[in-house]
Amino acid sequence: MGLLDRGGARLTSRPEEAEILVVNTCSFIDTAKQESVDTILEMARYKTEGQAKKLIVAGCLVERYRDEIRKSIPEVDAVVGTGELESILDAAGIARTAVLAPSPFNILSGSAHTHVRTGQESLSGTHKSDLKGTGFSPYESVPTIQEGGLAPDISFRPEGDHRERQGRFSREDWQGATHLLPTYLYNEDTPRLISTGRTSAYIKIAEGCDHPCTFCVIPNLRGKFRSRRFESVVAEAQRLVASGVQEVTLIGQDTTCYGEDLGLKDGLAQLLDTLAGIEGLRWLRFLYAYPNRITGRLLETIATHDNICKYLDVPLQHAAPDVLKRMKRGAGAEIFLKTVEKVRAAVPGIALRTSFIVGFPGESLRDFEVLEEFITEAKFDWLGVFNYSDEEGSKAHALDSKLPRRTIEARKRRLMKLQQKISRKAKQQWVGRELVLLAEGESSETELLWEGRTQFHAPEIDGKVYINDFGDLRSLESGRFYKAAITEAHDYDVVARITSRAL
Ligand code: SF4
Repeated sequence: MGLLDRGGARLTSRPEEAEILVVNTCSFIDTAKQESVDTILEMARYKTEGQAKKLIVAGCLVERYRDEIRKSIPEVDAVVGTGELESILDAAGIARTAVLAPSPFNILSGSAHTHVRTGQESLSGTHKSDLKGTGFSPYESVPTIQEGGLAPDISFRPEGDHRERQGRFSREDWQGATHLLPTYLYNEDTPRLISTGRTSAYIKIAEGCDHPCTFCVIPNLRGKFRSRRFESVVAEAQRLVASGVQEVTLIGQDTTCYGEDLGLKDGLAQLLDTLAGIEGLRWLRFLYAYPNRITGRLLETIATHDNICKYLDVPLQHAAPDVLKRMKRGAGAEIFLKTVEKVRAAVPGIALRTSFIVGFPGESLRDFEVLEEFITEAKFDWLGVFNYSDEEGSKAHALDSKLPRRTIEARKRRLMKLQQKISRKAKQQWVGRELVLLAEGESSETELLWEGRTQFHAPEIDGKVYINDFGDLRSLESGRFYKAAITEAHDYDVVARITSRAL
C-alpha cells in the first residue's frame, strides 16, 4: 500500500471505483484459501463487468498456487508473492523510480476503523475521495527499494539452515509454487500506509518461522525465520510515535525468537526495553510467543514498564503430550500449567490468550479430555479454537487416523462452551474496576453504544468494551484514551461508563 501510494496511486476501498484491484490473500488453512479465492472471483467481476482494468493477486496464496491462479482465473493480470513486494509496482504499471522520494508514513484518515478492508481485501485505484493519504514528513530519508527483495544484512539461525536441510521448507508437493523461498524483509525506509487509524500501528519485527510444527505450512509459505535489524525497528517505532501513534503491536510468526539470528540474547526483551522508552508510546505489545521461549527476562521486562501491556498471546495448540509430540511441539499440560503460573506470578493481572487445534490426526477422546481439563485449570482470559485443517505439504498430511469433520466440529463446540463459562465468571470480576480504554468509535452493532479496548484486549482479536455512558463528557473521540468504570459483564464483553479523559 505504501509503495503504491508513493508511486502516485490513489487508494479506494470501493472496488467499483478502482482501475486496479489488489487482492491480498492468505492460504495457511482451508477456510483462508476459500475466502481468498472467493474474493478474487468477486473482484474479477469488477473487471469483466465494471471499469477495473487490472486485477493483481498478492500474498500467501501466490506462494502456494502461483501458476494455478493465472491458469484458473484468466482475469488475473499479475501475481505478487510475499517475497517480491516491490514488484507490485511493476504489476500496477508504476516505474520503480517513482517511489524514490522522502519516506514518511502516510496514515489513512478516518476513524480508528478505516474503510480499507484488511485480510483478503480489495484496494487501490485512482480516486482519492474516501481515503486521503495525508502525507506528512517528519524525517528526510530515502527508501531503499531492494532489487529481488533481499535485505543486505539478512541472516538466518542455525536451526533454520538445519531444518532446511531436513526439508522443512520444501514446496515439492506444491505444483505451481516457485522453489524459491521468500527472503524479503522491509526496513524503516520502506514506504508504509497505515490503515489502522492514527493511534494504533503494527510493526513486523521478524518474518518466517523455523519451528517444525507438523500441521503448519506457514514456514513453507513465508520462509526461514529472519529478524529485522534492531535499529530499524526502533527507528520505525520512533517515527510512528512522532507522527501520533500511541499503540504499537509488534508482530511476527514467533516474536519470542526475535534477534536470535542477529546474535542477540533475549532480543525481544531488549527490544521491548528500548521501545518502552519512547516518549508518547502509551501501549506496547507483541504477538505471538512460543511457549518455551517465555524467559524470566521477558516477563520482568513486561512487568517493569507501565507502557508494556500486561498481555501475552501464547498459542499452545494442544495440551495432551501425545498430540503435542505428533505436532512436533512437545511439552504438555503439566509443563504448560507451570508456564502459566510463572507468567501470572511475574506479571500479576496479566491477560493470557491462547489458541488450540482440535481434531489433529489421532486425537483420542482421552487426549481431548486432557485438553478440556487443562483449559478448566488454566482459565485463560481469551481463547481461540481452530479445527484441524489437513494441509498438503505439512507433515501431518501424511498421518493416519484423520478424524471425521463432525467429531472435530463437536469438539470445537465443547471447548467454546467450556471457555464461555470460564470467561463469563472472569469478566464478572471486572465489574467495579476503573481501567484506561482506547475509544474506537461507534459500535458496529448499534449507534447507541461506542466500542473500546483496554490494554488487556489486542486489536481486533479479543472481546470488547461497550461504552453506554459518556459520564460528564458530551462526546468521545475515536482514537483517544479515557478512564472508564466497568459496570456490567457479559460472556466475553463488558460494559463501561466513562469517568474522565486519560492524561
Ligand atoms: S510456530 Fe507457529 S508459524 Fe511456526 S511452524 Fe509452528 S504453528 Fe507454524
